This record gives sequence, C-alpha cells and structure tokens, in this order.
Amino acid sequence: MIRTLAYGLPRLGPNREYKRLLEGFWSGSISREDFLEGLEALEALRLATYREQVDLYPAGELSLYDPMLDLAVALGLYPLDPGDLEGYYALARGKEALPLRKWFGTNYHYLVPRLPERPRYTPQPGWGLPYPVGRNQALKEGLPTLLGPYTLLRMAQNPPDRLGAHLEALTEAYVELVQPVRGRTVLLQEPALGLDGAEEDLPHLLAFYGTLAQEVSLVLLPYYLPPAPRVVEALATLPLRGLGVILAPGVSLPQVPKGTALVVEVVEGLGVWRTNLLALGEVLSPLAETGQEVWVAPKAPLYHLPWEVAEPLPGALAGRLAFARERLKELALLKAILLTRTTSQESPPSPEEETAFAQARAWYTPPPPWDFRPSPVPASRPPREERSKAQQNLALPLFPTTTIGSFPQTKELRDFRKRLRSRALDQTAYWLHIQEAIRANIRLQEELGLDVLVHGEPERSDMVEFFAERLEGFYPTQKGFVLSYGSRVWRPPILFAPPRRREPLVLRETLFAQSLTPKPVKAILTGPITLAAWSYLPQGVEFREAVIALAEALREEVKEVASHGIRVVQVDEPALLEKLPLKAKERPGYLALVGEAFLRVVGELPPEVQVHLHLCYSDYAALRPFLEVMDPDVVSLEGARQDPSFLQTLTGLSLGLGPGAFDVHSPLEVPAEEILTRLQAYLRYLPAERLWVNPDCGLKTRKPEEALANLKNMVEAAKRLRKAF
Ligand code: GLN
Ligand code: ZN
Repeated sequence: MIRTLAYGLPRLGPNREYKRLLEGFWSGSISREDFLEGLEALEALRLATYREQVDLYPAGELSLYDPMLDLAVALGLYPLDPGDLEGYYALARGKEALPLRKWFGTNYHYLVPRLPERPRYTPQPGWGLPYPVGRNQALKEGLPTLLGPYTLLRMAQNPPDRLGAHLEALTEAYVELVQPVRGRTVLLQEPALGLDGAEEDLPHLLAFYGTLAQEVSLVLLPYYLPPAPRVVEALATLPLRGLGVILAPGVSLPQVPKGTALVVEVVEGLGVWRTNLLALGEVLSPLAETGQEVWVAPKAPLYHLPWEVAEPLPGALAGRLAFARERLKELALLKAILLTRTTSQESPPSPEEETAFAQARAWYTPPPPWDFRPSPVPASRPPREERSKAQQNLALPLFPTTTIGSFPQTKELRDFRKRLRSRALDQTAYWLHIQEAIRANIRLQEELGLDVLVHGEPERSDMVEFFAERLEGFYPTQKGFVLSYGSRVWRPPILFAPPRRREPLVLRETLFAQSLTPKPVKAILTGPITLAAWSYLPQGVEFREAVIALAEALREEVKEVASHGIRVVQVDEPALLEKLPLKAKERPGYLALVGEAFLRVVGELPPEVQVHLHLCYSDYAALRPFLEVMDPDVVSLEGARQDPSFLQTLTGLSLGLGPGAFDVHSPLEVPAEEILTRLQAYLRYLPAERLWVNPDCGLKTRKPEEALANLKNMVEAAKRLRKAF
C-alpha cells in the first residue's frame, strides 16, 4: 500500500492571512472572537489544500505563535488558564518573553523554553489536546500531532545532562496528553533524533516511545537531519504505526515490523527545485513491490517554503520551482507512478498510467550545469603589524566611534522604494532621493562627531534582498513570503545560476557619501556566508560552492571600491555562527570554508584598507576560531545585551573589537553614563587601544530620534573615556 503524508503546510496562508490575524489581534483592531474565527477559516483552508492532494496530514499545526511554545504551555512549564491568550502572547512577545533562537539551522526562530530544575511536568487543561482555540476542526480528519519530548529536551535553554529522569516524567505527561485521542494515529515530530548524541540516549527514548505506542498508534517522524543508522535500526524494532526515514545518499531503509509503515521522506522541504519523480520512482518501486506499506513524505515541514508559486517567473525558472503546494502535488504524482509501477509490470500501461508518467516526465527538467570556476584563493593578508602601521593614516583617536551601517528607514524611504518598484518613480528620481538621504546621514554623523562614517544604507530594503537584486543569478521573488517568527515574514531570494556582478553593488552610494566628507566612509557588504544562508540555493549545488561563487562576486566589488580610494571595508556576516553545522564532524570543514570565503573577499586589499567584520544574533562561545581564521582588522558584535564577560573567550586576539555600546533593539534611551560604565566593563577584558565604540547592530528599525539620542550619548561616553586615558 502506498500513501502520501505531508506536514507543515505554511500557517502563514496563501496571502499572509496569519500575519494579519495576529497583528490585528495584538493591536486591538480584531476582536478575540473574529481572531479565533479567522484562525478557524485559515485552518479550514489549509486542510482543504492538504485534502485535495494528499492522503494523510496533521491536525493541530496552526500554532497560535510557535509550536515549541505550545508544547511548553501544554506541559505546564508556564502555567496558564485555559483560553488565556494574553498570557500566552506575553510569553511570546511580552517584556518577559522567552528568547528566540534559530531552529535546526533554518531561518525559522522558535521560542526557547526553560525546563523545570526538577523533572516535573503537569499537563494543562485547555492547552494540549484537544488543541487550544482555533484548530479543532482538524482533529476530525487529520492526525493529531505533537512535538516530541526529545526535541523539547535537546532544544531547551537548559538541556539536562541526563535525560532519564526527565523522559520518565515526560512519559506520564505525554500519556496524559494523548488520552483525548487514545487509540488514534498520532504524529510525533522528533527532528532532534538527527542530532549528535541521540545514540547515547536511545535506551531512554525506546522506553518512552514504547510506552506511548501502547496508548496511540504512534508515527515517529524525525526530519531535517537523518538520524544515525544505529538510531534508525533501534527505532525500527518498536511497535510503531509508522517510522519516518529521510532518504539521503548512503541511507538504507530499515526492516520494520508488520503493521509499521515506512514513512519515506523524499521531497525537499528546504529547497525550491522540483523533484525528479521518475528517478525517485525507480528507487522506491522495489520497496513498494515487496508489499511494504509505504507513505511518501517531505524531508522537512513545508513552512520553510512560500505557499505556492504564484507569480510569472523568468525563463530560467519557469516550470522548475516547487513551493509548499507544489510539494503536495509532487507527492500525489509520485504515488501515482509508484502504483502503476507495482501493478503494471506485465500488462501494457493503461491510459491513466500513461498520464501519470507523462505528467511526471513533464514536471521535471534537469538543472543547467553550474558553470563556475573560481580563481585561485589569494595568499593571506599582509601581517597584522604591517596592516596596523599602514592604517595609522586613518588618523583615528583612541576608542574610535562608528556605526554598523543602516540608519533609520523612514516611511518616506519605503514609499520611494515602493514607487520605484511600481515604476511610478524612475531610477534617476529615486537616486536623487537616495542621495538626499545619504547627505543627511553624513551631515548627522559629522555633527555627532563620529570617526568612521557610513552612508546609512537608505537604498537597501533588506541586507540580502538588496544584493540579490543587483547580482545576476538571483531571483528575488515578489510574493514568496515565509514565516521567520511570530508574525514576521521575509522573502528569501532564489540563487539559480552562478552569481555575477553586472553592476556595482555598493560603489556608487559609498563614493557619493565619501565625496561629502574628509572622514573615512565604510563600504558595507553582506558577506558570502550570509548571502548563501539566507537564500534558496541552486539545484545540486552545495552550500560551499554557492559561498565561494558569492565570495568571488564580492571580491570584484571590494577591489573596485578600494581602487576608488575607499579606506574601510565592512563585511556583514550575521549568519556566520547560526550556520555552524549541527553535526560536530562537519564543523572543521565549515571553519575552513569561512576562512577561505573571507580571504577571497578581502584578501587582495592593500594593507592600508581596514577590514571590518560585523556579526550578530549569536552565542559567542564558538567565535574565537572564526576570528582567528578570518583575521579582520576590526570586529563589531551584537553584544550589548550580554554579560561583558563573554569577551573572556576573546582575550589575547590582536584585533579591534566593538562589542556594542548599546542595544539597537530597544527604543529606550541609554544615558551616556550607562554607556561609559559598559565600555569600562569591556576594558576589563581588552586593552584600551583595541576597544571600538559602536551600537551593537544596524539602526534601521529605530525611529530617527531614538537613534540620534543614543548615538549622541555614545559619542559623549567615548569622549569621557578618552579623557580618562
Ligand atoms: N550593515 C547592516 C545594518 O547596519 C548589518 C545588519 C545586520 O548585521 N543584521 O543594518
Ligand atoms: Zn548585526
């Protein structure tokens, strides 16, 4: 028997309905009643979409904010009364909200729960199953679903050293949670089974799943990363209703007991290219012929993709993309060709079979070759002493002040961009507005007395999208929205061919800014790791290859910028640490890639050009080796909210360091006194000549008056600190 299973269809909806509902409810423009009705309607639409194409799909996916928060609340980690939406949203986005963290190397952020010190879990009435408001209609037809306990334990703020006691307590809690759906098929999502260390935890896990499998028909669904072979083998001994296995090179499918369906995860959930269904059919048909019950499924939940391909595509992409809805269609087609393959060995194909094959054949075209040959890696940069000496001509004071790049983006600017897009404004008129904004930013920075200036990035919508628009080989989608966290969405661009710099990227804006001031202006570029991490990658092209090609495109820009007399270049790599591979054995290779990519971008610059690196959103414990291989002259970090002692791991490195004078995410004014105290705290870990003074990230999302107040205080604090030296 062959069936199709899909999961994670974007809760955002085809037209960002989810975002509108949440934001309307939060702002008070949508009543509680209308909000819940709206969610029901959205869920009905999602279910109908599943129903149209696939056999099996989950119930209860339409989280009120984040599935991990749902689980934490259901298990009583944060006790709430039934229906207390205000309490729930306070946990998601109030003053004491749980921290956000990237989810399994994707660009979705989940809320990170805190486990109780003593393993005690008390399921909360009204928050588990049946699901809280807005999604119970799904329970009639879909498979009830929950995130599994292993994923909770591994992804918490405080993962326990020993899982045994926690898993024991969670066994009781989950058994209680599933009572309302006792005996039914339940989908337990366990992406953490692919993490390092799952093998050691197996005995406890087997006990947990074994017990739960007595209460419900349990389908165990790992995804994203294939679990170790030993883990799969062990899970395959359990009396499960279904076991998910990610089909990847080198993964062999386990023998499962009679009655267990193999959930073969075959179509992409993180990439956008259509699947070669005929090839997949060849691989799967021997399995189908054994009589094994097979469910074909995606390798990741579908919410990392936009809802559907809903715009006219350029020729190179037409007929090649599959977003979430197209993935459902792929599963249906795959099932059709598998069914015909297993029934029609002897007899000539029936007309329906012919159609299925014809459709599958027409569905897929192989990708064009990735035709890119990188130039040789430059030799390393000149020694640091030589660079420091050459850079003295920047004539910077002790504790130099600078910003990270973006200045507040006003509504006016966003309107200009909208009008440029809709062609209501031509390029020349738009450029005049941009020049105006740059002029104002430079004037402001001179008045404030900053030392290294920026043009303020008024021309950038988003730090990746902007480069995707200027580089050939990228397609920045118009409507391809994906949920980032809560109600926040973004549009990942699609890299489909080797990136080529057909026009300058930052040259024009940077030179214009530099023409207005004698102070050095930084050229600011988004780095190759971040460009690759926050885009969909070309078909069949490894992350590594994409990074190198992007680095090469940036290298040309950086060379040209320097040849025009720009003296400071900054590379932004906010994705650097979040892309740290989840599997330890892949980390050395990643470190080497980061070093090589950075060298390709800045390695040919003369010693007098000062190279800055900016990083954010990170846990900096892993940072040091990266700074060693990248060897920038100055690094700025998003560290203003961390305890200054995080610098301990960076002592002894001989580079300039700007750990962040104030937190750009807060609208509050930070008095000069407080900034001074913060800077002094940094000096406990750094010699004076290495401390830089800067906000901890770009100022784009601040109001102009908020940015101004804090920059003023920051410069004032730097001046006072200089007096003390
Ligand atoms: N230069 C960018 C800015 O200032 C950097 C953004 C980021 O690090 N996320 O907005
Ligand atoms: Zn940043």
